[in-house]
Amino acid sequence: MSNLYESAFRANRDAMVVADTKMHFVAVNRAASELFGVQEDELIGRRVSEFSLPTERSASQFATFLAEGVMRGEYRIRRPDGTVRRVLYTATSNIEPGLHLSVLRDLGEDVALEQPQPADRSQLALLAASVGTWEWDLADGRVIWSPELQAVHGLQPGEFDGTFEAAEALIHPLDLDRLRGAARRLGSEGRLAIEYRIIRPDGDVRWLSVQGKLYAPDNNMDLAFAVGVSLDITEQKQQQTALSLIVNSSRALASSLDYESTLRTVAELAVPDLADWCSVHVRDAKGDDRIVALHHRDPRKTAWAWELLERFPPDPDAPGGASVVIRSGRSIMMEHISEELYDGLDEERLAVARELDLSSYICVPMSSRGRIYGAIAFASAESRYHYDAKDLEVAEHMARRAAVAIENAISHRETENERAKFEVIVSTVGYGVCHVTEAGEVTYMNAAAADLLGISSDDALGRTPCDVLHGRACDSPECGLSATALPAAFQRREAFTTAQGESLAVELLASPLTVQDRPNGTVLVFHDIRKQLEQERAKDDFVAFASHELRSPLTPVLGMASWLSRKAESAPEKYDSDDMEAIVTLKDESERLARVVDTFLDLSRIEAGRLQLDAEPLDIKASLEAELASLRQRYPEAHVTLEALPGPIHAISDSLRFRQVAANLLENAVKYGSPSAPQVKVTLSRDAKDAVFSVTDNGPGIADHDLPNIFSRFYRAENESVRRRKGLGIGLYITKQIVDAADGSIVADHSVGPGATFTVRWPLRAALPDVR
Ligand code: ADP
Repeated sequence: MSNLYESAFRANRDAMVVADTKMHFVAVNRAASELFGVQEDELIGRRVSEFSLPTERSASQFATFLAEGVMRGEYRIRRPDGTVRRVLYTATSNIEPGLHLSVLRDLGEDVALEQPQPADRSQLALLAASVGTWEWDLADGRVIWSPELQAVHGLQPGEFDGTFEAAEALIHPLDLDRLRGAARRLGSEGRLAIEYRIIRPDGDVRWLSVQGKLYAPDNNMDLAFAVGVSLDITEQKQQQTALSLIVNSSRALASSLDYESTLRTVAELAVPDLADWCSVHVRDAKGDDRIVALHHRDPRKTAWAWELLERFPPDPDAPGGASVVIRSGRSIMMEHISEELYDGLDEERLAVARELDLSSYICVPMSSRGRIYGAIAFASAESRYHYDAKDLEVAEHMARRAAVAIENAISHRETENERAKFEVIVSTVGYGVCHVTEAGEVTYMNAAAADLLGISSDDALGRTPCDVLHGRACDSPECGLSATALPAAFQRREAFTTAQGESLAVELLASPLTVQDRPNGTVLVFHDIRKQLEQERAKDDFVAFASHELRSPLTPVLGMASWLSRKAESAPEKYDSDDMEAIVTLKDESERLARVVDTFLDLSRIEAGRLQLDAEPLDIKASLEAELASLRQRYPEAHVTLEALPGPIHAISDSLRFRQVAANLLENAVKYGSPSAPQVKVTLSRDAKDAVFSVTDNGPGIADHDLPNIFSRFYRAENESVRRRKGLGIGLYITKQIVDAADGSIVADHSVGPGATFTVRWPLRAALPDVR
């Protein structure tokens, strides 16, 4: 069997069996194996009669069959499992010398006593209509077609007049030359094997697979005749075409992101298997429809069609037009295009329509996930093919795949645009930017980071951020950038030596990234703060120097102001009221000045890392009470209360620094409390380790967004009550530094009163080696 014939044989849904003259199975297809209930290769070599019921066997029938060449009827098959199936068969003898072909249609489980149902008859007709035999007398050109073959051609039995011309008249004009060539070669090659199209009288185009053989008795060509079998393979052909179209177009569509050129490929693929003409229409962003591909097998015709489109731009409202399909999202199929469709066309257009001479048309929307990107139109013309539901299915499948390709291309382009925009922004900000995956690998580093760190962006890829920044990988959890500790959100300053040996200081911000609600690693942003640090150091040095210089002359001034004040208090009669006022002002202001200078000195100490706390006996409750008394004295209008357990709370700690902490918080409570009637509530308690005290005021409190920064250097909240008060924003910073140095903790919140509450835990025993 030729390959083609063999694949038709294999793919046929009906059981097909080839047997030799002794009726042994020689070849079977899968449907036959299912029908006989035996594996394909196990059937080969067995006798057909093994599967027959005794009553069915008839030697005389077989002889007639051999003589007549064709036999058909009903038959029963007994399967190895004992079940009996009824089949319709058509058998053709000597398809090749000594080989007989039977086509069997399964009619189901045997219901022997039943008369054949009308449905069976129609199935019989169906089977007969797909295989036919022929005989061709080469000498006189006479052609004999079996009734089945006439039916295959859409003719009634006897309608075929037996002339070669009548046969040729049914052949598709596009295949006629090929068939004539094959017929000529029959004389020399002795065989015929060809597939071609016929057009039935009703216009239906069918594919036939034809195999024939030449017989020349006594090698006399004058007596030569050919016999053969014709098989209607339209359905297999359709299936094959559909499959290869779907596979090829899917492959083309998946392979490229340049969708316009891909759509051109799709149009080219569709021709000629599915269409003589194919055009692809795309709706652009403005809502206009554009033809991006138009194809015909003949390039001259394609060029001609483009010209036509220039001359007669498509009417967006033309029924059946691509625009209508794009708008509605619904496919259109015109199985038969007839002249009536041309009604109403002007002469010029009518001429064009006649020249195009379309016979059938399909237009399907390219839509994916509810969005319509365009439409594909398929038209048959010279092939005279008429589309059916299966073709529509194939067309829709291709269009769906095309829509997905467009969708991918668009989203890829959008992503690329976004990426390009992002690259420009990120590379111009001057900040180093890195992206780190959840597995701790750098996947992106911008040019600024590369400059700063002295390595190329490519070199950074795949390494840990710690390795990239610090020039060596570490696994210390404190590092925060090592492979073991993925960067969580933080902001900090870091000084380190780069891989190139350069000392670098950066402000580093790490923030986890979420993309479409899913964690997607961390972004690190950093910038060089070496200059800034230098300036800050110079400023700190100046502040330290100035505070020192101011403090020395201030000490005697303070001493004298206090001496004068004591003197005036002991003998007030000696001073008039102006003198008294001047002395009080001198004392208050010199003390205020001393406090400011001391604050700066503290700041300098902290910056220089020289803040040290002493360890000495301290009564926390008494110290707090003393600070409260001083506060009451300075602010008699303030209502100050203390809630504490009776008895002292002893500690070993730095008493001056403890009092400084308490004084700062109490001062702020009055300062930021209610301006008309400040209230300060203090609580004091203790546990095994710490004394715990809190200061609550009745002011406006601290906004949530200020809470995280309240202990930062020079930070002041932005609000009216703060603006009304003078301040530098360093009191709380120093307070926190002191509490930290004492190994305690301080938090601010607004959980207690309407105003702010600061709670301090102060260790009862300073964590110093000599007091343990
Ligand atoms: P200063 O009082 O000099 O501004 P601080 O360091 O003492 O500096 O306080 C820093 C900032 O914290 C203040 O400017 C203010 O915004 C806020 N703050 C401090 N204490 C309170 C409080 N009791 N109530 C409301 N805000 C406060």
